[in-house]
Amino acid sequence: MDLVTREAWGAPATSPAAYQSSAHGVKIHYLGSAYTSRKHSLCDDMVRSIRSEHLANVAEDYVDIAYTALVCEHGSVFEGRGTHKRTGANGNATLNARDYAVCALLGSSGMTVPTDAMLNGLVDAIEWLRRSGDAGLWVGGHRDGFATKCPGEQLYAWVEQGAKRPAGVRPPESTPDVYVVREHDTISAIARRLNVPWQELAAVNGIAAPYTIYPRQELKVPGLIAPVVPPFPGTSAFVVGRRNPAVLDLDDCLIGQGFTRHHDGNGYQRGDLFTEYTRRNVADFQRATAELRGDPDGYPGPLTWTLLHS
Ligand SMILES: [Zn+2]
Ligand SMILES: [Zn+2]
Repeated sequence: MDLVTREAWGAPATSPAAYQSSAHGVKIHYLGSAYTSRKHSLCDDMVRSIRSEHLANVAEDYVDIAYTALVCEHGSVFEGRGTHKRTGANGNATLNARDYAVCALLGSSGMTVPTDAMLNGLVDAIEWLRRSGDAGLWVGGHRDGFATKCPGEQLYAWVEQGAKRPAGVRPPESTPDVYVVREHDTISAIARRLNVPWQELAAVNGIAAPYTIYPRQELKVPGLIAPVVPPFPGTSAFVVGRRNPAVLDLDDCLIGQGFTRHHDGNGYQRGDLFTEYTRRNVADFQRATAELRGDPDGYPGPLTWTLLHS
């Protein structure tokens, strides 16, 4: 699942919405307004604007974006209020307390047919809410028990057929994403918005000082491609004094990330032997990484492995 956390798309890390321990199931929604297909680099803008719209809605008095999660046409799952938070999107207090609410970025006009990637992302979101949010197995549409067209004919038909992953879903495209330059954009402003280093953005597009760009110019955004993480080889690959090919990969990551302080006096060398130096360098990486700081034992687990490759 490609989960875009609240912090990653620019919302406060935790929603102020009321806590709830579990949900009966998940209700699927759509935007119910005109929507056009867009580049993925603009999807987070859309999510931010939905949150602004909700916060400005005096009639509803929303404390946050109303949805539990939102799914774009490219299959990314944007964390809305998130797990264990009461939704505001299902129509009334009873319905909000009953089910989570997942909104597809799909229109009632313009783009009205869900992509396979979107359906796949919706299933990702549903499974995530079951796994991490104690959601029950029921899946329905906003219109179930409430007078609304939401989530539209196309999506509701999919829900009625069991909300399944589409057959033969292709992996996401590996071609670089593209950003279309807007009026008054600068390289550094775009880089900040896309969360990539501006030097890299300039370099991959062959733009040198004075970094002139033009409205409607298309920029390649290679930084948006998720890094490829090889499968975790298991903890048995990392035992002090034992050799394993995965240690070569581990060493590449440590060297690439600059964690090479511990060595035998000749600089930290790449090799397939997991040494005490390797373990200490991994421990340095764990101490330097917020998600891993709690247990810096120097032995890579699945999360250390993933973050080392990021
Ligand atoms: Zn709805
Ligand atoms: Zn997208």
